[in-house]
Amino acid sequence: MRKALIAGNWKMYLDRDSAVGLAEALSREVRDTDDRDILVCPSFPLISDVKRALENSVVMLGAQNMYFEDKGAFTGEISADMLISVGCSHVILGHSERRHIFHEDNDTVNKKVLQALRKGLIPILCVGELLEEREAGKTEDIVKSQVVGGLRDVSVDDMRILVIAYEPVWAIGTGKTATPEDADGVHGFIRRTVADLYSAQTAEGLRILYGGSVKPENVDGLMAKDNIDGALVGGASLKSDSFLRIVGFQQ
Ligand code: PEP
Repeated sequence: MRKALIAGNWKMYLDRDSAVGLAEALSREVRDTDDRDILVCPSFPLISDVKRALENSVVMLGAQNMYFEDKGAFTGEISADMLISVGCSHVILGHSERRHIFHEDNDTVNKKVLQALRKGLIPILCVGELLEEREAGKTEDIVKSQVVGGLRDVSVDDMRILVIAYEPVWAIGTGKTATPEDADGVHGFIRRTVADLYSAQTAEGLRILYGGSVKPENVDGLMAKDNIDGALVGGASLKSDSFLRIVGFQQ
């Protein structure tokens, strides 16, 4: 049985006071349970403040991106060691906004995945197709190339901790959600791809999150599906009432 993971991606939205207020609310309300992990990913400058607000809480802390080098003249970039030093356990990599606005390709994402694992951060590798790719019937081709490219040289041991998030780009921030059946179908395809790359056992243990306009109204239907092991939540993670309702999903 895979433990669910509900992750909030705060993107570049919250200022310091709102981020700390939200973290304090989560810290008060989120209880430790056996069946789900909870994670929030604030923007870089707020990670330490959010960490303090989450002290003694079960809510984990992640970052939204990182660079693949150890250190050096890389103005504006952040290393894995820096994220670990401020309390991050996870890092989102290859988010569609990184791929499409900042032109990160599968090679770059793969280097980041390998570096995160080398340093002991849990990568959340994001994959997903554009609307035109879906309409052209290319969803599986695109998702397969992102999964195979992102996982190149990742060891079978590291696959025990790595998480994949399937986020159809047309559903991110648009209010359009893939139906639970559609999402489950792509998650099943990702699991079969991972089984071909590694083994059925590795694929069975892999957590695959769904992302794309997850809300209190649709989370239960999504989480009821066999291949959906959690959610990567953008907009609805920015307010405590909606995020707490998602965190409290019923299966
Ligand atoms: C995301 O940021 O990864 C995301 C899925 O955003 P939203 O929930 O707003 O669609």
